[in-house]
Amino acid sequence: MILTTCAYCGVGCGIRATVTGERQVRIEGDPDHPANRGRLCSKGTHLGETVSLDGRLLHPMIGRKRASWDKALDLVARKFRDAIATHGPDSVAFYVSGQLLTEDYYVANKLMKGFIGSANIDTNSRLCMSSAVAGHMRAFGEDVVPANYDDIDAADLIVLVGSNTAWCHPIVYQRIRARCEAGAKLVVIDPRRTETAEEADLHLPLRPGSDVALMNGALAWCRDVGVLDAGFVADHVAVPDGFWDAIGEGSDLWSVARTCDLPVADLKRFYELFAATPRTVTLFSQGVNQSLAGTDQVNAILNLHLATGRIGKPGAAPFSITGQPNAMGGREVGGLASTLAAHMDFAPGNRERVQRFWASPTIAPKPGLKAVDLFRAVDEGRIKALWIMATNPAVSMPDAGRVRDALAGCPFVVVSDVIADTDTSAHAHVRLPAAAWGEKDGTVTNSDRTISRQRALFPRPGEAQPDWWIVKEVGRRMGWKTAFAYDRPAEIWREHARLSTYQNDGKRLFALPGQASGGNARYEAMQPFRWGGTPFADGRFPTPDGRARLVPVVQKPLAAPLRDWPMTLNTGRYRDQWHSMTRTGLAPKLARHREEPLVEVHPADADRLGIADGGLARVATPQGDSLYRVSVSAGQRPGELFVPIHWTDRTSSGGRTGLLPRPLADPISGQPGFKMTPARIAAV
Ligand code: SF4
Repeated sequence: MILTTCAYCGVGCGIRATVTGERQVRIEGDPDHPANRGRLCSKGTHLGETVSLDGRLLHPMIGRKRASWDKALDLVARKFRDAIATHGPDSVAFYVSGQLLTEDYYVANKLMKGFIGSANIDTNSRLCMSSAVAGHMRAFGEDVVPANYDDIDAADLIVLVGSNTAWCHPIVYQRIRARCEAGAKLVVIDPRRTETAEEADLHLPLRPGSDVALMNGALAWCRDVGVLDAGFVADHVAVPDGFWDAIGEGSDLWSVARTCDLPVADLKRFYELFAATPRTVTLFSQGVNQSLAGTDQVNAILNLHLATGRIGKPGAAPFSITGQPNAMGGREVGGLASTLAAHMDFAPGNRERVQRFWASPTIAPKPGLKAVDLFRAVDEGRIKALWIMATNPAVSMPDAGRVRDALAGCPFVVVSDVIADTDTSAHAHVRLPAAAWGEKDGTVTNSDRTISRQRALFPRPGEAQPDWWIVKEVGRRMGWKTAFAYDRPAEIWREHARLSTYQNDGKRLFALPGQASGGNARYEAMQPFRWGGTPFADGRFPTPDGRARLVPVVQKPLAAPLRDWPMTLNTGRYRDQWHSMTRTGLAPKLARHREEPLVEVHPADADRLGIADGGLARVATPQGDSLYRVSVSAGQRPGELFVPIHWTDRTSSGGRTGLLPRPLADPISGQPGFKMTPARIAAV
């Protein structure tokens, strides 16, 4: 039996895997893992059905021809070197993934920022939770999630904002249900009446994009009824001049109800519940983050918890739940274009510190291109060499059709992936075979910052190699042999752990296990590692003065429907599928839940437009269009559509959702606003 971690979502469930034959494994939940205590959802349960070699990329490929590793790696190193020599370090880019292990992320980040000298490395986590990162940085001074799953068990009120937790984080949801059965109340704030909302004590189907108004209204309510924690604020929170004037405008109950399009009585009930319940956990996810005002929406939630002192105590916290298995590990090593390493930004002192630690010839001078801007730069010809690792931006980026055109026009594209033929790898000049889940070792960090091990269960097939190995081999071929002389992931882990406290006072969040010298024992035994205690329990925040910040955020005006695009398109996940289905598509049982992509339409819209339940309809936006089966659903708000993100050219002739969203992003976080695209629908 081997202890490992689920390959899918940010819940980070521990698994006991028993290899029962060639490429066969029995999967059980690990009862000792704090994230899941033995439970697994449908995706985790069926992981064993996804380990076949169907569709795998098993050999390096140059164009359509098989090549040796030496030849492929030499070519990649030469093309990157040539582009840098001719056009400078910002002419190259990496686009990586929350599917990578922390060790993979670390080596890629080190190569780009410390040796190539650009910060043009961004990750698909930008699409998932970068608004939470930016909100945490603004409020706390560092990207710290001030909660863990035990807080759910201690909460008397659980508020879910923009999260269909029952489908997207099922094991967290089971924990929420257990707490509700013990008496806690559940409020769901979501435009859609999802499966999660169905079971809530109160569902607030707010107008999309009105979250700041709703949270500012809650804050004003708490002030007016006298439940702000004046002592906590006086001791631990900086309140900028004019804060209360800024958030107070339009925050009376009736104005908020009008802005959010909610019944006054329901809104009042939520505000009363929040004000009366000190032990409240507010979990938020993509519905908050994937917005053009995502960072403000995050800070509106953080403001509410800070001002009422609902933070730093068991059962009281704002809690960002992440989508991918290692979104948090990527954040910890600095795998975003906007951070340097180990939660540090690009301040001169940090740059000098990291360069000294890496003994590197250069260091990125400034933040790099975030995902949307990165692919825009590819489209405009400013990126001459691009390396995409473990992700499928030709499906998942907004305006994916344009991303495909950009890839087709890029002079040199490398894709390292597990799967041979993806919508993205169709544009690759070089494809490099990566080891899959169950074939490599490393660590992942889940939503509550528990670090867990992923372990190899099978020998690597064909010539597949771990991502960290592929990146370090390119680094060595680019001339940096000593800096990329890793033999094992444990060596990378220990370097990452040392950097995390290197001249950093040793008292920050990072005090990672494995810093002790000698042997692999501690790394090998690590499963899982949990940070001790409740974050911010001492009231000190990682800002220069130790105080958190209230951020004056105001509700932006909500645009009226456009004449030609009168509806609002929302996108999201299905319970039993994952991203572009390259893994879940291998498990037939998972397809039974939803066999095809559906567009959900409110009955009044369906009537008005002559769209029949079960018929076909075409959803169009200014970016593109695609075909869906219609599901008429009273769970939709009138005027709004919902489609799933999973289907691609490879899996379907319809449901190609990536073609539809606008390539617009939150100006602070760079996270695309997937949840609100002007659209129209017509029966076919
Ligand atoms: Fe895997 Fe997430 Fe399901 Fe847990 S909840 S088994 S991590 S998909």
